[in-house]
Amino acid sequence: MSDLGWNPLHGVPSYPAERYAALADRIGGILRSRNDILLVQAEAVVALEAAAVSLARPGLSALNIITSPYGGWFGQWLRRGGATVKDIVAEPGLSVEIEAVAKALDAGPRIDVLALVHAESASGILNPLPEIMALARARNIVTIVDAVASVGGHQLDVDDLGIDIAVIGPQKALGGPAGVSALSVSHRAWDLILRDGAPRESILSLADLKTWIDGGRRGLPGTPAPLEFFALETALDRIEAEGMENIVARHALAASATRAGLMALGAAAWVPAEKASNLVTAVPVPEALEPASLIAAAGRLGVEITAGVGNGSARLVRLNHTGPRAAFQTVLSNVVVYGVALRQAGHPADISAASEAIADAYRR
Ligand SMILES: *Cc1c(COP(=O)(O)O)cnc(C)c1O
Repeated sequence: MSDLGWNPLHGVPSYPAERYAALADRIGGILRSRNDILLVQAEAVVALEAAAVSLARPGLSALNIITSPYGGWFGQWLRRGGATVKDIVAEPGLSVEIEAVAKALDAGPRIDVLALVHAESASGILNPLPEIMALARARNIVTIVDAVASVGGHQLDVDDLGIDIAVIGPQKALGGPAGVSALSVSHRAWDLILRDGAPRESILSLADLKTWIDGGRRGLPGTPAPLEFFALETALDRIEAEGMENIVARHALAASATRAGLMALGAAAWVPAEKASNLVTAVPVPEALEPASLIAAAGRLGVEITAGVGNGSARLVRLNHTGPRAAFQTVLSNVVVYGVALRQAGHPADISAASEAIADAYRR
């Protein structure tokens, strides 16, 4: 028989229609939310744009917190839909100051919607989500939280915090597939979305996606890509077996061990621990060294160090400890490679003390 290029990946069975509802319920469990859970058949940035497109309209007033390019995009999508958007741009590579948020909320006129990213894998910062949510709740503002990077890396209790729309993807700290994402949507958010005619007949329409819920949560609209949903189901099995608390603890340990290693090295992380995400640790690159050559040298040793992303991050590199990388061997090799680079640039770096500090952090 001639080889026609047949491949088992091309003949995947459909994902069973009755299992989508179970996926949504399990994601509700991860988010600790009883709100509606929508599944989006695309990477998470599509779910984020869908939330913006579905809320935006002339007359809507939004406060948009920008701590990475993602926040910048969110503001743009809202503006494109006719909303009036006030941006708060944090200092480059840093988290937003709660005082700045309070001031912007009280400066008037009334804000309907507040959007922010919880934790950034772009720069390694953590925004003060509970404090910001308290400000928003007190003012009855609908909130949208980009938790794509943070879910699994940080505690995220959507209903406790009162988050109206939380957007997640499984591919970061949860270590799952990148081609599906999910949103939780509260009653309050639906009221705002459906008020005087939400956008419809669009792949970005949350109102259209809601027909899946209203129709009894069987097969998803469109032609679902089965591999992604089988992969999501497998990821959820693994996530539930490990337990969300343990996953978050594993990321917290990776972050604190990284910081302990850096301190023993004689180097400093870019942001203080209380403002840092558990996902990546940004570190400055010495003047005598080009970030690209540090990254290349690490690559030759099989260690993946990445460039900082966004404003003010040109002299930063990221030690990534997200998802399966939130583990001893990655933390150790990240810090050792960074120490080697410091030495090459003529800075003292105590690599053995750093290794001991990391081993110590993991022994506890
Ligand atoms: C990764 C990420 C996204 C986008 O996710 P994709 O699935 O790559 O589109 C959005 N927001 C934040 C904070 C992220 O870290």
